[in-house]
Amino acid sequence: MGPDSEPVHLQDPWTEAEARAGDEGARRPWHALTAAEVLSVLGVSPGAGLSAAEAARRLRDLGPNLAPAARGRPATLLLLAQFRSILVYVLLVAGAVSLALGDTFEAAAIGAIVLLNAMLGFAQEYRSQRALEALRSMVAPEATVLRDGRPARMPAAGIVPGDIVLLESGDIVPADGRIIEAASLQVSEALLTGESTPVDKGPDPVGLDAVLADRTSMVFQGTVVTSGRGACVVVSTGSQTEMGRIAGLIAAPKEEMTPLQQRLEGVGHFLLFGALLLCVLVFVIGVARGIDAGEMFLTATSLAVAAIPEGLPAATTLVLAIGVQRMASQNAIVRRLSSVETLGSVTVIFTDKTGTLTENRMTVERLWTPDGREEALLAAVLCNNARLGGDGEPEIGDPTEIALLAFALKSGLDPEAARRDHPRLSEIPFDSSRARMTVTVGGPDGRRAAYMKGAPEVVLPLCDISPAGAEEEAARMASDGLRVLALARRDVTQKDDPDIERGMRLVGLAGLWDPLRPEAPAALRQAAAAGVRVVMLTGDHPATARAIAARLGLEGDVLTGREIEALDPDELRVRAAGATVFARVTSEHKLRIVEAARRGGEVTAMTGDGVNDAPALRAADIGIAMGLGGTDVAREAADMVLVDNRFATIVEAMRQGRAIYANIQRFVHFLLSCNLAEVAVIFIALLVWSASPLTPLQILFVNLLTDGLPALALGLEPVDPMTMTRPPRRPGAGIISKRSLMPIVGVGGVVAACTLVGYALGREWGGAALGRDMALATLVGAHLAVAFVFRNESRPFFALRANHWLTAAVASSALLLVGLYEAPFLSERLDVHSLAWKHMAVVAALSLAPLAVGEAAKVSGVLRRAGLLPEGV
Ligand code: ADP
Ligand code: MG
Repeated sequence: MGPDSEPVHLQDPWTEAEARAGDEGARRPWHALTAAEVLSVLGVSPGAGLSAAEAARRLRDLGPNLAPAARGRPATLLLLAQFRSILVYVLLVAGAVSLALGDTFEAAAIGAIVLLNAMLGFAQEYRSQRALEALRSMVAPEATVLRDGRPARMPAAGIVPGDIVLLESGDIVPADGRIIEAASLQVSEALLTGESTPVDKGPDPVGLDAVLADRTSMVFQGTVVTSGRGACVVVSTGSQTEMGRIAGLIAAPKEEMTPLQQRLEGVGHFLLFGALLLCVLVFVIGVARGIDAGEMFLTATSLAVAAIPEGLPAATTLVLAIGVQRMASQNAIVRRLSSVETLGSVTVIFTDKTGTLTENRMTVERLWTPDGREEALLAAVLCNNARLGGDGEPEIGDPTEIALLAFALKSGLDPEAARRDHPRLSEIPFDSSRARMTVTVGGPDGRRAAYMKGAPEVVLPLCDISPAGAEEEAARMASDGLRVLALARRDVTQKDDPDIERGMRLVGLAGLWDPLRPEAPAALRQAAAAGVRVVMLTGDHPATARAIAARLGLEGDVLTGREIEALDPDELRVRAAGATVFARVTSEHKLRIVEAARRGGEVTAMTGDGVNDAPALRAADIGIAMGLGGTDVAREAADMVLVDNRFATIVEAMRQGRAIYANIQRFVHFLLSCNLAEVAVIFIALLVWSASPLTPLQILFVNLLTDGLPALALGLEPVDPMTMTRPPRRPGAGIISKRSLMPIVGVGGVVAACTLVGYALGREWGGAALGRDMALATLVGAHLAVAFVFRNESRPFFALRANHWLTAAVASSALLLVGLYEAPFLSERLDVHSLAWKHMAVVAALSLAPLAVGEAAKVSGVLRRAGLLPEGV
């Protein structure tokens, strides 16, 4: 059945109803129509595309080209979700008990705390969500669309049916479209059909009943252009595409939890369980000691509230999100939150040379020719797909080829004129594994010729005549760090010669210089200081690579792609561990290199930009794609995108990644230490005095003052300048290690001890009421003070750059504490009393004591390490 036997409905298709019509029957058999029919149904001219006005109208009527899942969670749902937590349930029970006991004020206060908590949680999550959305829009897919007669890059979300989209190798197809033009266009549809071999695509219609996999006249959203180029007219967008329809069937993907968040959740569950158990214990002990059961129940539940680390997940996400935003402003866009953590444990970076360590702004430094420049320049210009800009237009194409054009122009050969005189007849394109490019062209005299350019060791063997001295010259150029291209030519006498790439004649060698990025050597030194090995990858000759590596200060073995192929995985793992340069490598080699390193236990980062780099990017722990000039496919496969392609940005991202992790660790340790102290104080006081030093409401108040702002502010600690002097974090190392248990338990224990001393002194001097007053003030004061201890595990806080967030948070919490004691409407309600000067001085001393102990421990550690203090002090 062809298009002729099927009636075609050429009515205006742009009704809302049709756009919504989901089932196959109502859909147009676009694949069976001719390209011209499709274009006329969609009301667009293939040469000009839609007008901006028409596109805007269609966008308004049909909606953006987005999957429904791409829209975020609405704020109201987010707010409601805050009430679904154990903490809230415990508080509500406490409130109900208060009411039952007739204490309406207490019940109201607990209600207020529930609300306050929900608001805090909401604010944190909302802020994180916005940060992540902003990030997502930075890496939103783009497409080249013909509008008003001009091709333009635009966000794929703005594409409408009728748009003409230009496709090239490495693009991800942005919407479903009907092919109108194709040149060796191949598309991989594995995502949609499961078929992994790429499919040839072309404009010819296919049978009406062709299944999806056989619709070679169509391209589908989300599939990948693996080679060639082409153009299509968009027929459906958003949820109307084949992919959109599938995506609608499966639920929207949940935001994955990072390994750190998972571990924290584990810690949280453990603490939750422990807290509940402890509260039962406290309740039983209290009642056994003769305290009123209702009062004791409230004390126990308040203690549970204090001990439950409810804020952990939201605060962690917020700190991650803020960190990720900071990284984005420094040109490193992280696509997965979990990558932030992984970044801190990277042990080896495999980086491309060209464009990352160098600027990818090439110039021809030397041209060697056996007999005259003319033929060499002609080869350089004709075997070339780049275009020089002129008139303020930017140049287009591969920097290697642009350099050749610029050089020819400077040497008196006008590329445009030469190309007019020698029209291109055919092309075998360049790719890294062939390392050469060949074209055939016609000539003014009607004679045909083939021109080739490529790596000398590939081109020279294809030459019948290769002049004396050529190999030596190529070697000399390479050892000077130049990228060498051999240029060759032959006459074409026979039409359709099957072996056009043989019997060439060498006409020249071009040596190209690509300047090093000025900041690269310093970034490499930083990486080395941070215990991270850097390995350079390049398609260039080993001699070129070695020379560049030396200028960058990289020392070590040079391995080539050929050598890698000869090694089995285990040998490769061993050899690769000592190599700093891999030369003449292609994407397939990259994959083998990453896999070998990972088998060797390394945590790997790998850069890439081409379609074929995607597997290596996925295999690496951190795949890094290039923002400038890289392909969609590479970006999609990557964990991180470098907006500016610079190596230094990778190192900066690692620094930030380490810092973010350390900040999360800081506030987790601080929170745990606080919770421990609170629980210990109440527990011990119950055992010793058969009384709780804090009323239930006071416990909630303490929790609010310490768990809130100071903890969050610790998560915003500035980057520690020592961050990049330490080796990478061991992957899988817990957030609470044996080493960190010391400060948590130690500092928490000293805080608890000081609080109990304050309680005991107060009882001694003025009875239980004064004891409570002094205990509450000491507990809060000590917590606020020890926040500074947790700023750094080895250096005292006064030796660090100020954290203004923390200063502000502690100051405002301290003010609240003073307000509690001095403002009657608060002190009466919470049953505290203004302290005498003498008592205040004791409280101040007890509050600062844990800070002094913590910092003294660090100072003695520093001194001991410096050899200024004998062991054991
Ligand atoms: P890199 O990874 O450094 O960009 P490539 O794989 O692109 O390296 O290039 C490898 C070698 O192929 C180069 O050293 C050069 O000899 C040759 N080459 C590079 N670009 C082209 C091109 N456009 N046409 C022909 N040969 C090229
Ligand atoms: Mg290249």
